Amino acid sequence: MVAREYIQCEVCGTVTLLRVQLGQTIRRYSVQVPCGHCRIVMEAHVIQEETTGTYDITFTNAQRWQEDPSAAYYLESSSEFITQKLVAYSDGLDERISPYMRASQDVGFSNFPLMMTLINTVWQRSEDGWPRLRRIPQLYHAGSMDFLANELKHYIGNNPQLPLFNELDFFRAIHWILLRFWEPFVIGEPPLIEQALGISKAISGYSAKQITEITTHFLAVLPDLDQEISERMAQFMHVANTLVPAYTLQFYSDVEANGHDILDKYGLSTARFEEVKGLYQDLFETIFRLSPLMVAHNNIIHRGSIDAMSEGFGRTTTIAQFTELRTGNKVDKLTNPKKPRETLDYLIELPVSTALRNAIGHARWSYDPVSQLVTYDRGKSFLLEFALEVPHLLRAMLGLWELVYKTREWDYVSHGVLPSLDFSRLMTPSVLRNRGKDQQRKSKKSIEKRNRKQSRRKR
Ligand SMILES: [Zn+2]
Repeated sequence: MVAREYIQCEVCGTVTLLRVQLGQTIRRYSVQVPCGHCRIVMEAHVIQEETTGTYDITFTNAQRWQEDPSAAYYLESSSEFITQKLVAYSDGLDERISPYMRASQDVGFSNFPLMMTLINTVWQRSEDGWPRLRRIPQLYHAGSMDFLANELKHYIGNNPQLPLFNELDFFRAIHWILLRFWEPFVIGEPPLIEQALGISKAISGYSAKQITEITTHFLAVLPDLDQEISERMAQFMHVANTLVPAYTLQFYSDVEANGHDILDKYGLSTARFEEVKGLYQDLFETIFRLSPLMVAHNNIIHRGSIDAMSEGFGRTTTIAQFTELRTGNKVDKLTNPKKPRETLDYLIELPVSTALRNAIGHARWSYDPVSQLVTYDRGKSFLLEFALEVPHLLRAMLGLWELVYKTREWDYVSHGVLPSLDFSRLMTPSVLRNRGKDQQRKSKKSIEKRNRKQSRRKR
């Protein structure tokens, strides 16, 4: 169903016909309505009542107006689909097709149900899932372990792979839950769990000395980086449901061929430019604050030590020097074509290679809400392009988060905190009491075995 509203701009009096696609799934959202004449942005706030099937729309910077065949502009909007941008209103305008109908035609019969499932999931997780999930890091940081255990069990049940006996068990469970939660919000392959396993495998052959070297170097900053990642996650969730239409683009098979036409004609009616830009920039900064950890791991994988920088880094010869570089310089070093590509570089390849990064750090911006075009001194991009990059940046950040996680996990293990295995149902209390000691011995043996294997490999 599509609601029709004539609205008058409070600044210049211009009348716009707004057609609101009432959501299939999304019940409460705001639509950005630029005034084509004075170029302010009005807002329409939509609330749908699922039980009664009614809806209500209120406005900011605009008044509801009577039906007006001489309206100057026309805008369609949807919380779920890309929509045609503001155009001059004329009687000949084809109003018969709704954003929903157009999306179902454009993505095709087989893709449409998949797209609706994703829309549903993204919406449900950002609206209902996240407020509950964010209790977990809050309880973890507050040290409220009893409550935390209850919350974790809501997600993991009594998963024998994820027992909750010690701090490392909690840490592992939180990581597992968050990885699964974020899956629908990233675009592309591989799935996050698979990506995490790949990273784990890539850094699994370290000697005890190398593990000590990297944990010692980064330990002091890891909690801050973890905290920063948590903040970005919350910031992302604040904006996530306004980005839903951008997510649908991955279901348009001809986006590659007709990408320019699509970006030119269609846009996002729910996203606020300042919010998307802020999130984009902050994610970008965080990724490059995390990048020294990736470089250090590459150095160990390829040359055995965290400070064994590749020649491609030029005069930056230690990790400490690389860490001190400004974001722009880090980007330049990591994208230097002379630098040989190393094992973990793929984690940040995609966001770094985008043309949009040129826009980062440039203070002179202008944004036109009608064309949704962002102009900066080295180029132009559409809001939809920024919105599409955000899930890629998110994937990069979550990949680097994996390195933070593994490095912290090693630190727990090096302090004798080992992951528990849940044999409790088969065990008597005395066995449980001794279990910790047994495991420490077992794990010492396995570390020794691994080290022996490794030194054999070196020979
Ligand atoms: Zn106006």
